[in-house]
Amino acid sequence: MSALKTDVLVVGAGPAGSTVARYAALQGLDVTMVERRSRVGVPVRCGEFMPSIEEIRDMFPASADLEELFDTPSGLRRREIEAIRLVTPKGRAYDIPFQGYSTDRDRFDQHLASLAVSAGAELITSCAFQRREGGLFQTSEGPIEAKVLVGADGPGSRVAREMGLPLPKSPYPAVTAQAEGDFEPVLTMFFGGIAPGAYGWIIPKDGGANVGVGHNPRLAERSTSEYFRRFAADQGFNLRGGLGGKHVPAQGPMSPIHGEGVLTVGDAAGHVMAVNGGGVPLAMIGGRLAAEAIAGHLHRGEPLSLYEDACRRVLFPRLRSAAWTKLLADTFAFGSDLRTEWCMLSLGRRRMAKMLRCRFPFP
Ligand SMILES: Cc1cc2nc3c(=O)[nH]c(=O)nc-3n(C[C@H](O)[C@H](O)[C@H](O)COP(=O)(O)OP(=O)(O)OC[C@H]3O[C@@H](n4cnc5c(N)ncnc54)[C@H](O)[C@@H]3O)c2cc1C
Repeated sequence: MSALKTDVLVVGAGPAGSTVARYAALQGLDVTMVERRSRVGVPVRCGEFMPSIEEIRDMFPASADLEELFDTPSGLRRREIEAIRLVTPKGRAYDIPFQGYSTDRDRFDQHLASLAVSAGAELITSCAFQRREGGLFQTSEGPIEAKVLVGADGPGSRVAREMGLPLPKSPYPAVTAQAEGDFEPVLTMFFGGIAPGAYGWIIPKDGGANVGVGHNPRLAERSTSEYFRRFAADQGFNLRGGLGGKHVPAQGPMSPIHGEGVLTVGDAAGHVMAVNGGGVPLAMIGGRLAAEAIAGHLHRGEPLSLYEDACRRVLFPRLRSAAWTKLLADTFAFGSDLRTEWCMLSLGRRRMAKMLRCRFPFP
């Protein structure tokens, strides 16, 4: 079979891949994006919360032109969210003003993929990247020849494995489901034995909510679905549809995230806020940085390492403080409900608000 030829082969049509594909195509490059699922974004494996542009700018102040990147159509905003409520094991609640919205991740991802296609990228679904073979990249649908390969294929990145780049270590398992009912416009996070080392969540949508749990695998005494069943029973959720799970990188940003003719983006690069598990905004910011570096590489011969330099400047400062804060929480707060309760009480609302926004809580 003769190989399909392209400038940039993007593996994975999640937020990271579609953003790389969109901006690389806008720079005049020939882009092919392969996605192993038959429908982009389906099934949903996400809490479906997006912070507002103001909150993203506050967390990542060096990121530019956020309005253009996060120009989400109003039909994709399922519910405006005004606050995040942190609930201790004993039920004490701390409300932190925080703006954002819930979405439908399947439609959200499909929208981003359609922007990439409109910009000129080719999308091939039901096509899985398999391996590098000689100078070609082998997929389930045949070989592809590309000048640059982008691993936007999530925390278990096959691209990273094949190309000798690091993979996120010990990612956290997390499961999610949809619940019916009326919920306050508040994202609620429940801490303690209900979800050891992470949290259970309620993220309101109109007429329902996305509900789920994630946990640290090292602190777990039962399976993730068992944690979810207990959480759902405690909260009396009226569940609709099944439970879906995935892993969330939790170690902080990784390095290197580029090699000869290859780079990783989004979850595959560990670009997730360790304190809250959010990764969609970073997948998009990092995706655009990757596209700019690829265009510089292919048009002007600049090194691909400029992508990692840009990530260090824009993403790493807050991702690193989030990873440090998470390490402190793992050491001092998690593992016993009593300790979690005491730590949350001692930290108080102001310091926990800083932690949520990936800032160091002290002074
Ligand atoms: C339960 C859960 C809840 C979450 N809640 C939130 C939240 O509320 N807000 C938030 O911001 N973040 C949340 N996250 C994190 C967020 O989902 C990720 O950070 C985000 O999806 C990363 O985007 P990505 O494009 O890097 O990867 P993904 O969205 O995982 O996309 C990777 C794509 O690559 C495809 N793929 C994988 N392997 C191959 C292959 N070999 N060939 C071709 N295609 C392949 C996959 O099918 C997938 O479509 C949550 C994560 C989980 C697990």
